[in-house]
Amino acid sequence: MSTPSAPATTAAAIAAGVRDGSLKAADIVEQHLAAIATREPEIHAFNLVLADEARAAAAQIDQRVAAGEDPGPLAGVTVALKDNMCTRGIPTTCSSKILEGWRPPYDATVVSTLRDAGAIVVGKTNLDEFAMGSSTENSAFGPTRNPHDTSRVPGGSSGGSAASVAAGFSQVSFGSDTGGSIRQPAALCGVVGVKPTYGYVSRYGLIAFASSLDQIGPFTNSVEDAALMLDVIGGHDPLDSTSIPQAHPSLRDAMQQDVAGLRIGRITDLPEGADPDVVERLEVAFDTLRAAGAKIVDVQVPAFTFGLTAYYLIAPAEASSNLARYDGVRYGMRVEAADTNAMYGATRAAGFGDEVKRRIMLGTYALSAGYYDAYYGKALKVRRLISDDFDRAYQHADVLLTPTSPSVAFQFGAKGDNPLAMYLCDTYTIPSNLSGQPGMSVPFGTGAHGLPVGVQVLAGTLQEPTMFRVAAALEAAATKERGLQNGGVR
Ligand code: GLN
Repeated sequence: MSTPSAPATTAAAIAAGVRDGSLKAADIVEQHLAAIATREPEIHAFNLVLADEARAAAAQIDQRVAAGEDPGPLAGVTVALKDNMCTRGIPTTCSSKILEGWRPPYDATVVSTLRDAGAIVVGKTNLDEFAMGSSTENSAFGPTRNPHDTSRVPGGSSGGSAASVAAGFSQVSFGSDTGGSIRQPAALCGVVGVKPTYGYVSRYGLIAFASSLDQIGPFTNSVEDAALMLDVIGGHDPLDSTSIPQAHPSLRDAMQQDVAGLRIGRITDLPEGADPDVVERLEVAFDTLRAAGAKIVDVQVPAFTFGLTAYYLIAPAEASSNLARYDGVRYGMRVEAADTNAMYGATRAAGFGDEVKRRIMLGTYALSAGYYDAYYGKALKVRRLISDDFDRAYQHADVLLTPTSPSVAFQFGAKGDNPLAMYLCDTYTIPSNLSGQPGMSVPFGTGAHGLPVGVQVLAGTLQEPTMFRVAAALEAAATKERGLQNGGVR
């Protein structure tokens, strides 16, 4: 097992140093480009590395500092973007052949917000095609490898973004989470990953998979960096009608408060299936929080059991509608044929991969006349029950703790020809997408094969401040534990 490069520092420290002139953005960018040159051929985190653009942006930031200007709260922080976020004039592929050659005419709001804050985009990261998957094996451009063990998957669908941070290719990265696609790869790559409340971050310019579930969030090396990123990208965007029309309190401030007195929920009827090494780390997490003065309470969330079923009707239904636009006329690839209908068919047959086709067929079926009420309508009712169950649980608990992923990173091909086994990766992450509530994965030691394990912290709508307090406590305990294992040397 090779060890990924240790983070030199944090995004917060980089921004502070660049703003006061003690660090140069140009040096920061060169460090990350050097890491990319060394290990990217083996990892394949990126669909596109933007070395020239990153160097130019860094030079501009250093000039602004020299001129006495403030380039912003993320000055010199390198970021990698999942390749389903629109970047003006820069190819955006969703790791699909169907978008070949397409360049978006505008930037996603998150992208322009990050640039305005002084962040430097170093590249677009690999994903499962259209964000459908849990291993990055569904990319049309080949899989990403886990920096901790290159014979294993990094998780997915934002596997490239998770690997980028774990390998030191970028200080932070961004992904999208529709059913777990930030939290699960974060867990498998040993980094922090956050899915905020639905509407916390603008979706404008995020290429839609399932619009009622999709949210953008960060991957970072620390809980504080994740808070910093959300403090920058969170907030109302008039260009996204589902974005929450209010400002959010600073999570960087909120996480300073300890966990004494908080009620941590243990879900007694959580669906089984997590490996023993993962369950053991979850138990350590409960013990840690109890020792820090929190109270562990038992809660029931019965509808957790039905989340996966409801999701695999709702998400494909929305996807089948969203992906109807890739018809060979407006975006990317076109396969010529005798008439227009034949051209649509030929383009879609050649442009989409197997998993995307499977979702489109499932979704079209679930929405079709005669089946709509039995499948899609019923799934929406289950979604309501899941939200009700969470609301009841949050009357007794401030946060809930679960495993993020049922297992540590698995080998390539392990679940390849069994879609259901792959879908089960998302058992613990999907319910909070259906309820629209926040969740995050915090690296919490290692399990089988010395690979990272993530603990998931879930909270009620807009309860990110409490979620981050708990995450910070878990991170502090994990850091201390690592120090002790290294003979007290940190
Ligand atoms: N793995 C889940 C799926 O395949 C979730 C994907 C996601 O969150 N984008 O749908």
